[in-house]
Amino acid sequence: MAAGVASASSGNLLRLSVTVTVDMSNPPDSQHCPICGSDVRPNARYPAYVCSACVRRATAEDGRAVAFCNGSMFGGCIGKYVATDEEYPSDLCFIDGVVCRAREARFGGIVVQPLDPPMPGAQETHS
Ligand SMILES: [Zn+2]
Repeated sequence: MAAGVASASSGNLLRLSVTVTVDMSNPPDSQHCPICGSDVRPNARYPAYVCSACVRRATAEDGRAVAFCNGSMFGGCIGKYVATDEEYPSDLCFIDGVVCRAREARFGGIVVQPLDPPMPGAQETHS
């Protein structure tokens, strides 16, 4: 008698389903520099902060380049003229004609945002 080979195992198809879960719960996941429009890292706290490239173009009202940095001991925001290292006694600056205000960021560093609404005159507010 011949030994019948009976191996009739039906193909067991394992269906692999790969679910890619991408967190799309935050629609505003893109943010743009209000000056040049380039992509910046979205920041809910600073929705209109100026990108670092534009901050580097910041000038005083008289057109001199200014930069802002954190104060050493008390934090805060210190402005200075780039060319002379003189203190720049304001937190306002101009970038491409847009009046911006620099302030200390919550997590360190400096955040520069356009004044909104724009100030009507040369009205200085000291806080
Ligand atoms: Zn920019």
